[in-house]
Amino acid sequence: MSSFKYDEEKPSSGKKKLKELLLKSDNRICADCSAPDPKWASANIGVFICLKCSGVHRSLGTHISKVLSVTLDEWTDDEIDAMVEVGGNSYANAIYEAFLPQGCSKPNPDSSHEERASFIRSKYELQEFLKPSLRIVSSKSSFQSCDSGKVSCSGSDSFKSSAGMIEFIGILKVKVIKGTNLAIRDMLSSDPYVVLTIGQQRAQTAVIKSNLNPIWNEELKLSVPREYGPLQLQVFDHDMLSADDIMGEAEVDLQPMITAAMAFGDPDLLADMPIGKWLKSHDNALLKDSTINIVDGKIKQEVSLKLQNVESGEIDLELEWIPLNQ
Ligand SMILES: [Zn+2]
Repeated sequence: MSSFKYDEEKPSSGKKKLKELLLKSDNRICADCSAPDPKWASANIGVFICLKCSGVHRSLGTHISKVLSVTLDEWTDDEIDAMVEVGGNSYANAIYEAFLPQGCSKPNPDSSHEERASFIRSKYELQEFLKPSLRIVSSKSSFQSCDSGKVSCSGSDSFKSSAGMIEFIGILKVKVIKGTNLAIRDMLSSDPYVVLTIGQQRAQTAVIKSNLNPIWNEELKLSVPREYGPLQLQVFDHDMLSADDIMGEAEVDLQPMITAAMAFGDPDLLADMPIGKWLKSHDNALLKDSTINIVDGKIKQEVSLKLQNVESGEIDLELEWIPLNQ
């Protein structure tokens, strides 16, 4: 990667990052009304939106939403970095719609201006669908406060119970670094890629051709629900002609990191130091003890895994935990 440094410093490269982000599948529809092919963005919120919704965003004022055209406007590097940092519509919506009641439907591409405006104001200006503890200082009783949002969420007179809503407590960034000595699934080699799953969410790396020691250095993001289980990791061999073959799997216990993060509080206020450890044991996939560290105000954990249910293979990851409940 470092050989491309020159390219990264060209002025056009920021725009390229923005285009790449826009091409991700969740950014191919408007974050607010699901209209296809959004060409606008709220640079401070970090969402891609359609023309109609951009009009509503603009009416909220730039202190709430700073609307820019993806194609026409000049973006500063900071604005682009902020978009990339949020990671796109699904991550932003995991926050801004974390408590979207099931009975409250989002606007659609043909919704009236009033319906659209009411939803967008509720979502970003009044922040009615945020986790309650983000709105008011930490209250665990989840949902009563959303009753007050009834008025503004047009088209829904009755709310279903909070059952079925997913409350996210944080975002897990997983840098898939490399694989070592992976299993052979084709004649001589394999075309491996890594799939990560938490609950209903799934993310995957690129396929690396004919390589048993692939280096991905690819960052994936997943939202973590309150009732989280382990992070499931699977390695597959990409096969053009038949179904992809599995090349092993492993589980990552997220509890040591998340409980340490909760215990220590805001990582920005902490010096670099270890705050916890996930210990290697005979019933987990760790190759060695995995320490949770504060590094530059971030909660990080390096994890080396021995793939299970396969003849060979190791995977190195770097996790970062971004809590949403501060
Ligand atoms: Zn829209």
